[in-house]
Amino acid sequence: MAHYDVLIIGAGPAGLTAGLYCGRARLKTVIVEQGIPGGELVNTARIEDYPGFEAIGGPELAERLERQARTFGVEIKTESGGPGFDPRTGQSHHYAFHVSEAEFATIFGRVKAKGLPCGSGPYSHTDGQLYTRRGGLGFYFEDPYGHPLEVMTVPETGS
Ligand SMILES: Cc1cc2nc3c(=O)[nH]c(=O)nc-3n(C[C@H](O)[C@H](O)[C@H](O)COP(=O)(O)OP(=O)(O)OC[C@H]3O[C@@H](n4cnc5c(N)ncnc54)[C@H](O)[C@@H]3O)c2cc1C
Repeated sequence: MAHYDVLIIGAGPAGLTAGLYCGRARLKTVIVEQGIPGGELVNTARIEDYPGFEAIGGPELAERLERQARTFGVEIKTESGGPGFDPRTGQSHHYAFHVSEAEFATIFGRVKAKGLPCGSGPYSHTDGQLYTRRGGLGFYFEDPYGHPLEVMTVPETGS
């Protein structure tokens, strides 16, 4: 199971820039992108107002941003290569986040407030319960786009 310090949703200019700074700060960072990295840039033929470039093609700037983020160790997962535990098929790869107890309470509160289904295990991720493991708490949920996530106060493996 992969452990990350930061998850960024969307590899547009904002996400790639955030990723660049997180990676540079030595935070283990992953960006999950539902399409292709670059966001709206990839649909922009010519950009004439990006400081430092008199004119640059959107796709080229997107590629540069992506390459720069990856230089700092940022992982970029697109839909086809991203996380995917599917309780129906038994595939169990998903993103898990080790957080403090205070952060856990905040995240669980927000998931509940947004009415997202959540639960105590990958096969019971809608039972509304927390799990307890090694003295810590955790739960599974899917974000609104179906990305499977797990949040825990005690890591699965030491990290
Ligand atoms: C035709 C056109 C021309 C433009 N020309 C210029 C210009 O000349 N100069 C300029 O400065 N700006 C220009 N812009 C605007 C510029 O492209 C945007 O301001 C910029 O792309 C915004 O970046 P962003 O990262 O905030 O969002 P976006 O570029 O929209 O990126 C968001 C990314 O997040 C992904 N995403 C969203 N939700 C999820 C999810 N739940 N899971 C996974 N991924 C998700 C999307 O697929 C997307 O890749 C132009 C835009 C267009 C469309």
